[in-house]
Amino acid sequence: MTTSTDTAIVKLEDVHLSFGNTQVLKGIDLTVNKGDAVSIIGPSGSGKSTLLRCINALAMPQSGRITVAGTRVDTLTKESERIELRKRVGIVFQQYNLFPHLTVLDNIVLAPTRILGADRTATEKLARELLEKVRLSEKADAYPGQLSGGQQQRVAIARALAMKPELVLFDEVTSALDPETVGEVLWVIRDLIRDGMTSILVTHEMRFAEEISDTVVFTENGRVVAHGSPKEIFHDSDNSRIRQFVGGLS
Ligand code: ADP
Ligand code: MG
Repeated sequence: MTTSTDTAIVKLEDVHLSFGNTQVLKGIDLTVNKGDAVSIIGPSGSGKSTLLRCINALAMPQSGRITVAGTRVDTLTKESERIELRKRVGIVFQQYNLFPHLTVLDNIVLAPTRILGADRTATEKLARELLEKVRLSEKADAYPGQLSGGQQQRVAIARALAMKPELVLFDEVTSALDPETVGEVLWVIRDLIRDGMTSILVTHEMRFAEEISDTVVFTENGRVVAHGSPKEIFHDSDNSRIRQFVGGLS
């Protein structure tokens, strides 16, 4: 027992996950404190997406312990319990998957009203505030097909925020975008982080990760190879694999 002043909102301890015979996570330890921005970088196939998915119970480990916002996630056996968790943990994917037949506003209003049972009028007000935040106020009545990729991804971020999550996971949210729209999405995420939203980002945007992260985690082959400040990972690492990876992308 401790009289803990622990502010950890996410804690993974020795997490192992396999798909069939393929070991994807081989003993992951990760702690994220409330209000922190943590970037996860590393080569393709190293288990970054799987790690994120474990945090909101989209993937379940075979062993280890995962605690998110006070909930033991690795022991959630019922889908209904996992859905409860996902109400509190936002996730934004590379593919934004907006509903094409709904307006931007209705895309944002849908989950809070249907899943949380939130009041329609209050949620519309919140949705308009969030559209302002992601700089798309004028697009409330547009349909996703009328927007650029970057604009659609910003709607997807607003949609995640409309659930008032305790933390947000971002999985390579700019990787599918035209280069000219990447910046506008990063700008929105930067604002969120500055507002204090706890954020865990898998990203290939090295300069962005360097700028906004409290902690950077380098993963390779299912393991956390290194974690530290942006300076420690991007500039001071004596690990040749990290130097090569970071150097190759920045
Ligand atoms: P990253 O995001 O770092 O590229 P992933 O977590 O997506 O890595 O994948 C890590 C490994 O797990 C890859 O070899 C991938 O093929 C495998 N994998 C991921 N999801 C599944 C799944 N649902 N079934 C089987 N293998 C998977
Ligand atoms: Mg991935």
